[in-house]
Amino acid sequence: MTEKTYFASDALEMDSQVTSCVPAGEDRFHVTLSATLFHPQGGGQPSDRGTINGVAMLQAVQDGDRLIHITDAPLAIGPAHLQVDAALRALHTRYHSAGHIIGLAGEKFGWLGVKGNHKPGEGRIVFEAAAPAAPVTIEAIGAEAAALAQRGGSRVMYEAEGKRMVSWGDLKPYACGGTHVQNSAEIGAIRILKVKEKKGQLSVQYELDS
Ligand SMILES: [Zn+2]
Repeated sequence: MTEKTYFASDALEMDSQVTSCVPAGEDRFHVTLSATLFHPQGGGQPSDRGTINGVAMLQAVQDGDRLIHITDAPLAIGPAHLQVDAALRALHTRYHSAGHIIGLAGEKFGWLGVKGNHKPGEGRIVFEAAAPAAPVTIEAIGAEAAALAQRGGSRVMYEAEGKRMVSWGDLKPYACGGTHVQNSAEIGAIRILKVKEKKGQLSVQYELDS
């Protein structure tokens, strides 16, 4: 099993060990590591990218207990230096963190976030009504999200019943395995692009400065 170092660390570089490497189609290899900093795709957050011993790591995927790193060249079993693409991680982290803030903003209007896509260009949070829910406008949820991001402040992380809880300042925490900005101010402006209510679900599209 791979130790998920990214779970407790914001580090972007570390030494690890390649424990296996198998071919997986043309110019693709599935690599496992003793410990990893690469956040896999999951919970609406896209995968990190980066390098392992200078070889491009294109995507990290959770496969049951295993965490597979897809590379474009083979790697020898043994010592491995990991480098996470810092700019991409920072962007994913801001988009994912904005998802928390928009989720909290939706709750103010009686909506509960049920899923999210935090991929830049596709940012979207889907809510279901925790009856009775109030109608939401772009302006109203945008103003609420801005106020929450400003109020938040420093990141707070702790374990509760085996789950990692994440929040900023005194904002309500969510159980989450994603990556999060150290201060909610780092998210920057959250632009709500579209709000659509259909069949009891509310969909909120958003974007951030890139
Ligand atoms: Zn999160």
